Amino acid sequence: MKNLFPHTVLKMLFIFLLMLFFKIDCFPQDVISPCSFDQNFSLNVKDSFKNEFGINKTIPVDIEKFCLVALSKYPALKDVTIIFRYRNISTTMSALPKGIRLNRDKRKYVININKRPSKKGTARFSLLSTNAKIGLIAHELGHILYYTNRSNIQLVWDGFRYMIPRHHREIEYLADEAAIAAGFGLQLYEFNNYLLNEAKIGKKYRRKKMEYYYSLQDLQDLIEDSYEISFQDFYTP
Ligand SMILES: [Zn+2]
Repeated sequence: MKNLFPHTVLKMLFIFLLMLFFKIDCFPQDVISPCSFDQNFSLNVKDSFKNEFGINKTIPVDIEKFCLVALSKYPALKDVTIIFRYRNISTTMSALPKGIRLNRDKRKYVININKRPSKKGTARFSLLSTNAKIGLIAHELGHILYYTNRSNIQLVWDGFRYMIPRHHREIEYLADEAAIAAGFGLQLYEFNNYLLNEAKIGKKYRRKKMEYYYSLQDLQDLIEDSYEISFQDFYTP
């Protein structure tokens, strides 16, 4: 009988290498994988992503792929009910708990997206680059991750604290840190860079961004520390 061993081993090795090759992309649950998405990226695994990360999520079709990519790096939010919806709001995007539930596990959350530029001169979501969109969604998911760990009383308390600049800043910093920990540092930087350097935002909104959010330099430092990389080596606008 012919010895099939070398042929079988080679075949298995080929399949293994093929699997390895297809595994190396931006999407799987790597611990931290700074990666970038070009303007026309398509989620060719969209159905599997939807099945895995779209549970209890309501997402407008036109922004589905951005939301699913961001959600894929927040496994703790897998079963959490989140409604993404368009609203006329005074910022580009906001995340809030929806109603009060005694059982925090049954709490619902909404992420409001501003479709049009408001009187306050915020940036329109549709004008953002793909990376900036994902970075902003990742920031809002960072807020929701924080909310899921708070009791109802703590959330009410947070609402009051948000009016105190020091705490407002603390809450925004935490959302940025969550987005960076999830692997979206580059995307977050791109959103902030666009907002501060390219978007035609109003003076008041710009001042608010400077006062309550990490500066671009802070973000660079955080990204370098978190990913142990040189920012300039991997960020190309
Ligand atoms: Zn925020």
